[in-house]
Order: sequence, then structure tokens, then C-alpha cells
Amino acid sequence: MKHSMYIDGKWVKGQNFFLSINPATEDTIAEFPSATSDDMKRAVDSAEAAFDSWKSTPAPKRALCLQKIAQLLRERKEELARTETQEMGKVLKEARGDVQEAIDVFDYMAGEGRRLFGHTTTSELQKKFAMTLRQPIGVCGLITPWNFPIAIPAWKISAALVCGNTVVFKPSSDTPLCAMKLVEVIEKAGVPPGVVNFVTGSGKELGKEITSNKKIRCISFTGSKETGEWIIQNAGLKKVGLELGGKNGIIVMDDANLRLAAEGVIWGAFGTTGQRCTAASRVIVHTAIKDKFEKMLWEKAKALRLGDGLKDTTDVGPLVNKQAVEKVESYAQIGREEGAKLICGGKRTGLKGYFFEPTIFSNVQKDMRIAQEEIFGPILSIIEIRSIDEAINVMNGIEYGLSSSIYTQDINKAMTAVEQIEAGITYVNSSTIGAEVHLPFGGIKHTGHGREGGILGIDEFSEMKTVYIDYSGKLQKAQIDD
Ligand code: NAD
Repeated sequence: MKHSMYIDGKWVKGQNFFLSINPATEDTIAEFPSATSDDMKRAVDSAEAAFDSWKSTPAPKRALCLQKIAQLLRERKEELARTETQEMGKVLKEARGDVQEAIDVFDYMAGEGRRLFGHTTTSELQKKFAMTLRQPIGVCGLITPWNFPIAIPAWKISAALVCGNTVVFKPSSDTPLCAMKLVEVIEKAGVPPGVVNFVTGSGKELGKEITSNKKIRCISFTGSKETGEWIIQNAGLKKVGLELGGKNGIIVMDDANLRLAAEGVIWGAFGTTGQRCTAASRVIVHTAIKDKFEKMLWEKAKALRLGDGLKDTTDVGPLVNKQAVEKVESYAQIGREEGAKLICGGKRTGLKGYFFEPTIFSNVQKDMRIAQEEIFGPILSIIEIRSIDEAINVMNGIEYGLSSSIYTQDINKAMTAVEQIEAGITYVNSSTIGAEVHLPFGGIKHTGHGREGGILGIDEFSEMKTVYIDYSGKLQKAQIDD
């Protein structure tokens, strides 16, 4: 079925179309317009025209729309989750989790409508009042990936709208149907025309316009490091938020609860088929328990059932598309050539669909490519260490800094890890995944900058204005008057 874009409150047809494919069956499930730069310009113009009215709508009233969106998402949760499994492959349970995250973030950000706190503070001068207040930025360009096709747009749209911005939303071309259903909900919730515009098509085609259009004041991007680098080079002086890749690790010390750690590692490595920015792709294991732990991981990985995510019997779904399965296959080959020991998996499987077996390499050296580069698939590298200091050195010896974890019963080692790991997120005795919407989410180093979620998510989409009110009736000069 041919679908439309949504510009200025109207569903708009396109000239040319691209396909959305079910990665488990390779069937086409929808067709979407390949937008042109002119379509993008119209969307930006519409967002600009809607800005004044939306920004002057009181924040608690804007928040009512967000509440309504959360309610409608709740009503359509099962349908949306099924669409997500069909469109990008994750198992249904996880797809339901993605929709739930979207509901949670709209609920949370609706609450912000009655906060959006600035602060008041003292002044160094008499009869002078000092405070800050939040203002919207303007038109925001939101560019999102396919791996959380409802939750990631929801994080951005909810925060942008409650702050009073208008948006142009460009989803991944692997998941336009999920994105369209979210926009349908936004329309039905009564968000006025022009406030949210939805443009589909290739990032390469539309990237130039969305990054360089002067009417766009802020770009919020989640995706790969390579695209992030391109955006930052082209966005000029716009405010840019970047949530990029990761190469997340789990440290397992010799005193860890190994049963708990093995469950966490398997969930972190193979949940969402390893296609989470926070997926665990390195497990940094103490030498004293390495052989035992490796066997535990092997047993668990072998038991995972691959298949269509819509089936109850499936633990691990397909990769998102043909290029993704080819990329993962090439890294399995790189691992073999680098001399790592393949202990399970390592190949494609199934006659149809983009399936790749859960794969574990052992005896991985910290500088090997499979231990350094983001694979974004079900490949786990086991790296052996002898001390907490060596573990942290390995953990930090990568260009990324998103998520991390340590399993230990020793509070001193846990706190050393909390303090010394270079990452935006550290878990203790829990896997690398499981973000909650009221806490900041994001990374450091080449994972990018900025934070979404919680109050820091509000910072991304608002400007702080500093206000001084002098009621002394005379000219007072800060730093100069005695
Ligand atoms: P991607 O960079 O290929 O695409 C992301 C989005 O950018 C898509 O909408 C795409 O169409 C668009 N795009 C591509 N080229 C563009 C250009 N030149 N200008 C503007 N837009 C352009 O990433 P992906 O494959 O969709 O997602 C996987 C990546 O996303 C992984 O690296 C993963 O780690 C990362 N990711 C990060 C987070 C995080 O919060 N840090 C969360 C999820 C995914």
C-alpha cells in the first residue's frame, strides 16, 4: 500500500516511492514517498509558520496534547508493536517495550508542562532580582534510526513539543510505517497543523536540506557515527544534539554472581539481535572464571531460538536488512582472520530473511577490530583480564562511551568502575541495556554529546534566558559599583 507524508496538517502524496520490507520474510509491507528537497522545504516552512502560535500556547495546554498522545498510544499498543516487529524484526515482547517507552516518555514530558523550571538566585546588587526562564528554540529537525522506531522519535518529539518548538521529523527509511503510525496518533491527539511535519525518504537526499536550511534552528540526530560526523560538518552554527554509536562492555569479576552475569551478558549481546546502541558487544572477564563463564555463555547462546519475531517461540529476530546481515557476516570473517576463537554461531541461517546466528568469539585481544568497531549485530567478544585496573583499561580503550556494566559482589570494585569508566551510563550487576525515561540518556567521546530523557532532555530542546530586574531606580553596574 502507498502511504503519504504529513505536511502542514495534510497527508501529502509523493512522486516516487521506496519500499518498507519485513526482514523476517523479505515481503514488502508498505511504500512511502521518496521526498525531494522541495518537500522538505515545504515542511520546514510549515513548521516555521506554526511556531508563533504553538510557542504562545501555555505549556500546560501543550502538555494536554502529550497526555492525549500517551493515551492513544496505550490504546494502539498491540497494533503498533506488531507493526514494529514486522517492519524491523525485533521480537514482539521487545516491540511492546518500545511502544511502552514511548508512552512513558509522553507521560513524563506532559508532566514537564507544569514544571519547565528555570531558577531564581541572588544578585550581587541591592534591589535587583535575578532569574532564568526557558524558551523554545524554534523549528527542530529530528532525524531518527530504525532500531527503536517509535521510542526514539517519541523521546525527541515529546520534549520538543512541550518546550514549545515545532518539528520536522525524518524517520529511517527502514521504519517509515512505525513513524507514520506515531504521526497519526499525534494528529488525532489534536496537535495543530504544522507543529509536527513528517517527511520520508533517503537521508542522503534530504540531509543537505534539513541540515543547512536556515529556518531550522536545532537538529536532534540519533544514528551512526558516520552520519553524525556528516551532520555536524554541515549544520553550521545550529544547535546539534548527537546520539551515536557504542561499543559497550560488561566486566565480570571473579567474585561475580556468574548466573546473574551470564543472563545479563546474553540479554545485552543478543536482545534486539544486538542492534541496540547500548548492546553489549564485549565481555571483559576475569581470568579465574573465564573458562567456566565462557561455557555458561555458550550453553545459553546455543539455546536461543531464531525466527520471526511474531512467533512466541522466537528469542532472537532477524537483522534489519540485507546490508546489515552482510556487515555482520563480514565481521565474523574479520574475527576469524584476526585469530579470535569462534565458540558458537558465525554464519547466516534460514532460506528467507536476514537471520544470523548468535555468535561468540573468545580469546579476543582488546585492539582487534571486532573489539573496537561497532558491529550492530549478534557478535560478542570475550576479552580476558587479570585485575579491575586492567578491566577498566580495556573498557575505556575504545573511541565510544555510551553504556557499560560491571558484575561484582565487591563494593570497592563496583565503585571504582562507577568512578573510572568513561561512559554516559554505568550499570552495576545489571546488563548494559534498560534505560528509564526520567533519567538522562546519552554518551561521551565519539558517541556524541547531549542527553535525552529527564530534565536534561528538556535542556536539549529549550534555551535558558537570563533575566535581571532592577527595581533600585538608579544605574547599578555589576562588578564596578562598590
Ligand atoms: P544511520 O546513521 O544510517 O541513519 C540514521 C538516520 O539518519 C536515518 O533516518 C537516515 O535516513 C538518516 N541519514 C542518513 N544519512 C544522512 C545524512 N547525510 N543527513 C541527514 N540524515 C541522514 O543509522 P541507522 O543505521 O539508522 O542506526 C544505527 C545507528 O544508530 C548505530 O550506530 C547505533 O548505535 C545508533 N544509535 C544510537 C543511539 C543512541 O542513543 N546513542 C540509539 C539508537 C541507535
